[in-house]
Amino acid sequence: MYDVIIIGGGPGGYLAAERLGHRGKKVLLVEKEHLGGTCLNVGCIPTKTLLNSAKYYLHASEGERFGVHAEKVSFNLAEMMAWKEQVVQSLRSGVTSQMKRYKVEVLSGTGLVEVKGAARAVKVLSDGSETIHETKAILVAAGSVPAMPPIPGARDNPKVLDSTGLLSVSAVPKKLCVIGGGVIGIEFASLFGTLGSEVSVVEMLDEIIPPMDKDQAPLLRRVLKNTGFNLGCKVTRIEGGTVFFTDKNGKDQSVAADLVLMAAGRRAETLSWGAKEAGIDVTGKGVTVDSRMRTNISGVWAAGDVNGRSMLAHSAYRMAEVAVNDICAFLEGGSSNDTMRYNAVPWAVYSIPEAAGVGMTEQEALAAGIAIKKSAVPMLLSGRFIAENGVKAPGNVKVIIDAKTEVILGVHVLGPYASEMIWGAAALIENETRIADVKQMIFPHPSVCEVIRDAVWNF
Ligand SMILES: Cc1cc2nc3c(=O)[nH]c(=O)nc-3n(C[C@H](O)[C@H](O)[C@H](O)COP(=O)(O)OP(=O)(O)OC[C@H]3O[C@@H](n4cnc5c(N)ncnc54)[C@H](O)[C@@H]3O)c2cc1C
Repeated sequence: MYDVIIIGGGPGGYLAAERLGHRGKKVLLVEKEHLGGTCLNVGCIPTKTLLNSAKYYLHASEGERFGVHAEKVSFNLAEMMAWKEQVVQSLRSGVTSQMKRYKVEVLSGTGLVEVKGAARAVKVLSDGSETIHETKAILVAAGSVPAMPPIPGARDNPKVLDSTGLLSVSAVPKKLCVIGGGVIGIEFASLFGTLGSEVSVVEMLDEIIPPMDKDQAPLLRRVLKNTGFNLGCKVTRIEGGTVFFTDKNGKDQSVAADLVLMAAGRRAETLSWGAKEAGIDVTGKGVTVDSRMRTNISGVWAAGDVNGRSMLAHSAYRMAEVAVNDICAFLEGGSSNDTMRYNAVPWAVYSIPEAAGVGMTEQEALAAGIAIKKSAVPMLLSGRFIAENGVKAPGNVKVIIDAKTEVILGVHVLGPYASEMIWGAAALIENETRIADVKQMIFPHPSVCEVIRDAVWNF
């Protein structure tokens, strides 16, 4: 009998396995594809590896203004893909080693939750065989899959790829149409735009990247290389590589492309592990969980993308820790005090340049009826920013505070290092820091993050 069986070996599943192994629990991890899940194999890691190669290419091509001359700068997509594969393989073997280190048993196959009265088990289907494994607790971390909206002509069209397909193309498309201006769509637009594709983004909403500050998003759109935007546009059909859509004035338009990326969001994986048969509550968003990641069935938890609450790898990590704490308490007959909070989850877009944010945007705070004060400053206030990017580069920081309490509600960053800077801002929000406290903090000089201090001093 296992203490815990985990279904899914992505960030949520493997981190939970490590933590449980560390606490001496007998753990089985069932994974049907590769350890590391979406994030490591076809998500966060491969996209950032390719974006970094694109950044090297851009810097080599544009180094002249910094006094560095490189001749005949070129890139080789096959070599970039090989490097990406090397990074993925090395991280995947790192996860395998961690499982060994924490004495986690790993089984390759499809896991299905079995609920019979008070008994809990996981059925594993592998190579035509079926095994049943009894357990005291189950953590479902089955993640998510790309959503394929029912657009006529999208399915079984060799020119229409999802993010996984676009990560292994053999040539840079001359023209790329990206359906969906969310984080994934914009990262691919930035990658292929930098590598020379002519990119058209078609987005149904009026602005790209929903969590982004509405003053910063237009700035990012303006500077993404070789990328045009069709906002407020609804795709009606696809024929070959041509995407037809209705624009915001109701006019029919189209974009012809060599490849189309379908980046219209991700769907929580609620079909592969027997949720319905086990009686687990599932909505269109994902598995219903409480703040400790418990499902409606005692002894079964669900963490990460599968519950649809915050589809980010770092959210999956934290949800896994919350679930582990509750599972360990449950095994001893109690429940944990640790709960999941979503108000300080940072997000980042690793486009060139980057954007990141945490907490409320100005628009969200106003919609919630909160009286706010705001301060926005350009990154040109930073000496390091100018030294590394020049005086024409875009970038700014916007800070939102509660007008009454002066507690920081949101920090939004557009510019290089945004993804690295945002952790500090998340800590400020998590700790409900007031601006008077931030004013006493010391920022390293010269650094780009000093701009956060400048924004705070404006209040
Ligand atoms: C292109 C792209 C870029 C991304 N970039 C970022 C980023 O930069 N930062 C970020 O935070 N997030 C990013 N994400 C999102 C991130 O990948 C996910 O939020 C994260 O992987 C969720 O982790 P998870 O453990 O919940 O699920 P997953 O990583 O999806 O892992 C779930 C695992 O469960 C397995 N599984 C499913 N069903 C079963 C079953 N029945 N039996 C056995 N195994 C099963 C799957 O094979 C999979 O390996 C990106 C996603 C994509 C697609």
